[in-house]
Amino acid sequence: MTTDKSTPGSSSIMVVGGGISGLTTALEAAEVGYEVFLIEKNPYLGGRVAQLNKYFPKLCPPSCGLEINFRRIKEHRRVRPYTLAEVTKVSGEPGNYTVTVQLNPRFVNVNCTACGACVDVCPVERNNDFNFDMDKTKAIYKVSEMAFPMRYVIDPSVCKGTECAKCVEACQYDAIELDMQPKTVEFSVGSIVWATGWEPYDASKIDNLGYGTCKNVITNMMLERLAAPNGPTKGVITRPSDQKAPESVGFVQCAGSRDENHLPYCSYICCMASLKHVTYIREQYPETKIYIFYIDLRAPGYKYEQFYDNIKEDENVFFIKGKVAEVSESPDGSVTLVAEDAISGEKIQQTVDMAVLATGMQPTAVNVKLPADLKFTEDGFIVNDLEKGGMFAAGCANKPADVVTSNQNATGMALKAIQTLKR
Ligand SMILES: Cc1cc2nc3c(=O)[nH]c(=O)nc-3n(C[C@H](O)[C@H](O)[C@H](O)COP(=O)(O)OP(=O)(O)OC[C@H]3O[C@@H](n4cnc5c(N)ncnc54)[C@H](O)[C@@H]3O)c2cc1C
Repeated sequence: MTTDKSTPGSSSIMVVGGGISGLTTALEAAEVGYEVFLIEKNPYLGGRVAQLNKYFPKLCPPSCGLEINFRRIKEHRRVRPYTLAEVTKVSGEPGNYTVTVQLNPRFVNVNCTACGACVDVCPVERNNDFNFDMDKTKAIYKVSEMAFPMRYVIDPSVCKGTECAKCVEACQYDAIELDMQPKTVEFSVGSIVWATGWEPYDASKIDNLGYGTCKNVITNMMLERLAAPNGPTKGVITRPSDQKAPESVGFVQCAGSRDENHLPYCSYICCMASLKHVTYIREQYPETKIYIFYIDLRAPGYKYEQFYDNIKEDENVFFIKGKVAEVSESPDGSVTLVAEDAISGEKIQQTVDMAVLATGMQPTAVNVKLPADLKFTEDGFIVNDLEKGGMFAAGCANKPADVVTSNQNATGMALKAIQTLKR
């Protein structure tokens, strides 16, 4: 190393978003010697992957991939993670940015051992957004069994505060501080990687597919939570209206995707996600009939194609090339899907116990404006302006992607962030 190539004033990197992409960028940069501030708005790291039951194509639980990253973060003093944190302002230029971050209170300090004594006495309930409101938690709650950091958090929008304070009395570790206040902190960094990820497209905007009006129409992410052992049904897939074991399930591919009225693009992963969901159902119900309505089935690459081929072997899985035009509900809760079969030209009506909408990914930046001078596509994905440099987008903030592609992209963006510091 020669001194003239050493790093300039701001030799740190900020990564915004602690999903799989942000974790990857942060760790890759830290492991070659850079200090990284990792800013996550949720009370936990892991992003959407933490909500999945299993990963395609290997079908291993996401906890294996995430836990390795959490362990690396714990062991790596150069990564400084901040949860419940949001960037409010960015000023400066490549190599020299000042970033203002608001740290929101958790109301639970590092003494927390996650023993749960506080939950037993808390009198208030809230909808569990981690499980897409399919169950409830107390106002003080642990996000999931594998939450990182493994600490409780209080939802201030429902907590009764000091007028209740039963949790404070119950906690023998002095871990609860109901008067915790938000803080503002300024960071000097040389480059910023935005790994702000995606949100499920709001299915209630698709008015012909029954979401919100038919009780047994759910989304693909809801099915992830229903199948997860730490989900609202402890992993048993049942239909929401009456907890019946489904004898038939319909999948509606491209629900709102490749549609000018909703998301004009393909989200890349929805076909693979539904094929994976077939395995979730088959594991629990060997006889259940599964109908997959699609425009085109996309299983890109050798491993995904192989996965698709395996599912095609199942004689109780039926693929129907046809876009679902209408969904209706019968008094017994069953759901009828209407589509035109593009191969036979016939109108098809298929009644099933429950239906799953394969909704796509929408960049989070569509709904929450990022406080930085960034370029966006028409659909809200961040464009990587490599000529300007300094700020980059990784993973699904940049384009819809699976985990492998997100990780590759996130590693590349760690390199871009380092190059900014070196220049
Ligand atoms: C139904 C479904 C099933 C899937 N199954 C698989 C699968 O089996 N295998 C696979 O490879 N892929 C799968 N995927 C795709 C996978 O979920 C994505 O590839 C992955 O989530 C991308 O990670 P990310 O870090 O880019 O984004 P995210 O997971 O969305 O993480 C982004 C993080 O940034 C945080 N954030 C957002 N905005 C801000 C802000 N302003 N400030 C601070 N933090 C912020 C978020 O809270 C979040 O923690 C699936 C997708 C769907 C829809």
